[in-house]
Amino acid sequence: MATPNSDSLVIGGGLAGIVTALELLRAGQRVTLVDRDTPERFGGLALWAFGGMALVGTPLQAKMKIADTPERALADWLRFGELAPDDRWPQAWARHYVEHSRSQVHDWLVHEGIKFMPAVNWVERGLNGDGNSLPRYHVVWGTSRFMTLRLIEQLRAAGSGGKLTLLHRHRVTQLDRAGGRIAGAVAVDEASGAQVHLQAPVVVLAMGGINGGHEETRRNWPADRPMPKTLLNGAHPFADGRLHRAAAADFGAQITHAGEMWNYAAGFPHPYPHFEGHGLSTIPCKSALWLDHRGERIGPQPLVTGFDTHWLCQQVAAQDKPWTWHLLNWRIAAKEFAISGAEHNQRIRDRQFPAFLKETLLGNHRLVRQMQQQSPHFLVADTLAELAAKMNALTASHDVDPARLQATADAFDANFANGSKLENDDQIRRILHARQWGPDRLRTCKPAPLQLKGAGPFIAIQMQLVTRKSLGGLQTDLQSRVLDASGQPIDGLYGVGEAAGFGGGGASGKRSLEGTFLPGCILTARAAARHIGTGG
Ligand SMILES: Cc1cc2nc3c(=O)[nH]c(=O)nc-3n(C[C@H](O)[C@H](O)[C@H](O)COP(=O)(O)OP(=O)(O)OC[C@H]3O[C@@H](n4cnc5c(N)ncnc54)[C@H](O)[C@@H]3O)c2cc1C
Repeated sequence: MATPNSDSLVIGGGLAGIVTALELLRAGQRVTLVDRDTPERFGGLALWAFGGMALVGTPLQAKMKIADTPERALADWLRFGELAPDDRWPQAWARHYVEHSRSQVHDWLVHEGIKFMPAVNWVERGLNGDGNSLPRYHVVWGTSRFMTLRLIEQLRAAGSGGKLTLLHRHRVTQLDRAGGRIAGAVAVDEASGAQVHLQAPVVVLAMGGINGGHEETRRNWPADRPMPKTLLNGAHPFADGRLHRAAAADFGAQITHAGEMWNYAAGFPHPYPHFEGHGLSTIPCKSALWLDHRGERIGPQPLVTGFDTHWLCQQVAAQDKPWTWHLLNWRIAAKEFAISGAEHNQRIRDRQFPAFLKETLLGNHRLVRQMQQQSPHFLVADTLAELAAKMNALTASHDVDPARLQATADAFDANFANGSKLENDDQIRRILHARQWGPDRLRTCKPAPLQLKGAGPFIAIQMQLVTRKSLGGLQTDLQSRVLDASGQPIDGLYGVGEAAGFGGGGASGKRSLEGTFLPGCILTARAAARHIGTGG
């Protein structure tokens, strides 16, 4: 079966595909957008994402007296990501990002009716101050879900009158060639099993990352980095890398930096998984003690979130067992515990400002109670001995000696015995530094003993490494054209979003400044659409 010819075929209905299709329709093209998922899940990962965005030189930064510039952001980006100076396209995309995130992401989204929350956050500061040198993490009001649904509305409006053909539950299995160049793709209707030929002289690959399955992730994992025995999956289950490989095998596309991934160190199984192995990624509590499987604090440098996610992942991956523990109390959890994504940030997602403010100021007891009820990995007990027993029951082991757990807590609490002037602990130092910035102060407890009277009960959360984003992908130029081995654009073939490593086949290098993914999708999609729309 063949569908009506289109000017462009977009493969993948995530944020990158949706923005590409929207901009192409606005440029007057007839577009086919094909997605493997169900209509309810149209929007890909962006439907579930939080909506944090690294943006440079925004009005909100200016209002908060944050003197950011593209030059400063670029220096941060290149240093933190350790991008090789001769890695041409990732370098070019990094520059493009910092120079255009304001106009092409921030201003564009505002024009589309999206608002940002009124505070800029300071994430990924770098273990040694080598990350974001100032705050630039903006949060979409309504989360990424609201933004995605809004853009889907705009897509449908722009595609009215038959200009848009939208196919859900169709899996592209092959790219088509005619007359020596790309000519469309073959898809399988997942409901009927029928093959569909989708003809178009331009094909945009927007099928997401390459590390959505553990087999592929393990294959791509760099040999010199520790890999835990088990992993949770926080990526898209359809991100199987097959179309990347088809583009490479049939058209000479280059897949670069496939081993670079943006994983998270503190995940636990989704209580109601959407797919096998589905993990939630927590925003780990800065004040929780991060322990190994025996209940001993990992060190000598304690693990604290908000500075270097990549480093945290290396540390937990190098542990003897594939899980670690967070030891905290209810006081800390209510103020600091959060889970990444739209699903568990209800107040922001549903734009309930008074309720959001109340939970920020008085604590999100609702989420803590919810996890206590829903997750067997979230343990609550009145005493440390009882907690140790629960930890051992969960792992069916005697790994956690209650006396050792008590000693771990006592050693930390001893910092407070002689007043705040005699504290000497790197985690406390980092927390005090984080609290200097207003929005972090609101979400981070003042350092206090773990066994502070009235702060209980105690909580232990069993954490595992959760995979999330593929940082590598198809190598592309600044017009998002997919490049061949000689660096030449492959006629009619484009790559956007995570499929293209957020630009250039790996714009982030080894580390992201965080929140660079959604904007990277928008930037690469708009670059492709601009080039295609002006005649390629
Ligand atoms: C919980 C969570 C929180 C996140 N929070 C943030 C955040 O705050 N900030 C940020 O910047 N990033 C965040 N991200 C990451 C961000 O959401 C993704 O990197 C981004 O949305 C990727 O978009 P994409 O369009 O490139 O790919 P995807 O969203 O993966 O979409 C790819 C689409 O392609 C389809 N597809 C795949 N294979 C085929 C095929 N063979 N045929 C047809 N269709 C196919 C899939 O069905 C899917 O719909 C988060 C991600 C998650 C999961």
